[in-house]
Amino acid sequence: MVHLAHGRDEEELMASDDNIEELFEAVASRAAAYRQALPERPQRPEKSYEEMRQAFDAPLPDDGLSSLEVIDELATMAEPGLAAMAGPRFFGWVIGASHPVGVAADWLTSAWGQNTGSHLATPSSAAVEETAGRWLLDLLDLPRDCSVGFVTGATVANFVALAAARRCVLEKTGWDVEAHGLFGAPPIHVLIGDDAHTSLFSALKFLGLGHDRVRRVVTDDAGRIKPDAFEAALSDIDGPLIAIAQAGQINTGAFDPFDDLASMTHRKGGWLHVDGAFGLWARACPDRAHLGTGLDQADSWAVDGHKWLQTPYDCGYAIVRHPEIHARAMTTDASYLPQLSEGQRNPSHLVPELSRRARGFATWAMIRHLGRSGIADMVSRHCRIARAMAERLAKEPGVDVLNDVELNQVIVRFGDSDDLTQAVIDRAQEDGTCFVGGARWRNQWVMRISVISWPTSDDDGDLSAETIARIWRETKTP
Ligand SMILES: *Cc1c(COP(=O)(O)O)cnc(C)c1O
Repeated sequence: MVHLAHGRDEEELMASDDNIEELFEAVASRAAAYRQALPERPQRPEKSYEEMRQAFDAPLPDDGLSSLEVIDELATMAEPGLAAMAGPRFFGWVIGASHPVGVAADWLTSAWGQNTGSHLATPSSAAVEETAGRWLLDLLDLPRDCSVGFVTGATVANFVALAAARRCVLEKTGWDVEAHGLFGAPPIHVLIGDDAHTSLFSALKFLGLGHDRVRRVVTDDAGRIKPDAFEAALSDIDGPLIAIAQAGQINTGAFDPFDDLASMTHRKGGWLHVDGAFGLWARACPDRAHLGTGLDQADSWAVDGHKWLQTPYDCGYAIVRHPEIHARAMTTDASYLPQLSEGQRNPSHLVPELSRRARGFATWAMIRHLGRSGIADMVSRHCRIARAMAERLAKEPGVDVLNDVELNQVIVRFGDSDDLTQAVIDRAQEDGTCFVGGARWRNQWVMRISVISWPTSDDDGDLSAETIARIWRETKTP
C-alpha cells in the first residue's frame, strides 16, 4: 500500500480551487502531451494489472488535496497502466480511438454538468440529441422516422431494442409486459445466429428471456446465418417471435442475409433486430454499403458511437422503427418530471437511465467535424488497410488468413497451431509496435486484427504487418 501525501483543510482547499482556469489548462496540456506521445510509445500498457493495483492501493485519505495536486497525482499514477487505445497501431478488440474533437466536446459536456434526464431542464442537451439522431439515421441510411436513444454502448443498445421488441410482440397477444412482467405471458420465441455477439445473450438475460432459452441458428464459414436453417427453425414457430441478426461479426466482419431474414421474420409477424455495433457504419461508406443491403427492413438496430464514429467512451445508440413502442418500453414517469407535448422528445424516455451524461454533444461534434464524406473516407481507409495487412500476412509461409476481408476484421493463424498463434500474439504485444489480441474461431485460436482507429494510416498498417511477419519468422525458427 502506498502512503498518500498529506492533505489540506477545507479552507485551504476552497482557496486553491478557485482557479478553475489553471486547473483546466493543466489538464489540457497533460492530456495533449499524452496524446502526442501515443504514436511513439509501446501500444501495450507499460505496467501490468498487478503493478497498477499496487500503485493505486492506499488507505482512505483523511484530508483532501488541492485540485492541481490531485490531478497530477492521478495522472502520474495512471498513465503507466494505460493501453494506447487511442493510438495509431492499436488493433485489439474492436475499439475506437476517442478522437480529439470528441474528447474536447466531451470535456465541455462534463464542464457543463448537464443531467440529461429531461428536455425542459436542459434544452441544449435534448435538442442536440434530436439533430445528432437525425444525422445518424441519414448517415446509416435507416428509416428517417426511427427513434434514437443515446446509451453507453451496443450492449445497452441491444438491451433497449430487445425491450421494445418484447413489448411489441407481446402487445400483439394483448399482454402488457411493462405492467405485468413475463409471469403468465405467452412464451416468446427467440431466434439468434450461432455466432452472435456475447452482449446479446446478456441483453436476453437482463430481459428475462434467458440466454439458453433461445434457438440458435446454424451459420456458415463466415458466421452468417444460413437462410435455410433459419427457415427450418421458423417452420414450427407460432406466436410471439424475435429474430436477431448482425451486421459485422466480431471475428470475420461478416453480415447476415438481411433480405431473407427480414421477409421470413415479418411473414411470421415477428420483430427483427440487428446488432450492428461497428458493422452498421459500412452503410455510411459508399464502397462498403452493399454489405448491409436489406438491413433497413429490420425493426431495430444497435450501433456504437465509440467504435467507428470515434466518440470517446461511452456512447452507443438504440434505434427503433416504432418510436411509440420504444418509449413505452423505456419511459420513466414521476409527478416532478415534465410531461411531453406533441412533437417533443424526452431523452430519458428512450433509455433505461434517468440521470445521465449528455452524449449528444460528442456525437454531434464528431459528425460535424468529419462530415458525411470524412466518415465514408475513414471507414473505406480502415477496410483498405485491413485488406492490405491480410494480403501481406498471407504471403508469409505458415500464415493463414481465415476470413474474406470485406470489412475491417482480419483473423490469422500461425503454423496451424494454437500455441504458435498465441506465442506470436504474446511476442507482438511485448514488441509494442502494434497491439493485437487473440480469439477462438471455429475451435481454433486466432490472432484478431481490428482496424478501426481514426489515426491509423496505410503506413501504420504496413509497419504492423511487417512486424507481425518478422515475429512469426522468429517464432517458428527460434
Ligand atoms: C462491441 C460490440 C458489442 C458490444 O458493444 P459495447 O459498446 O461494448 O457495449 C456488441 N456487438 C458487437 C458486434 C460488437 O462489436
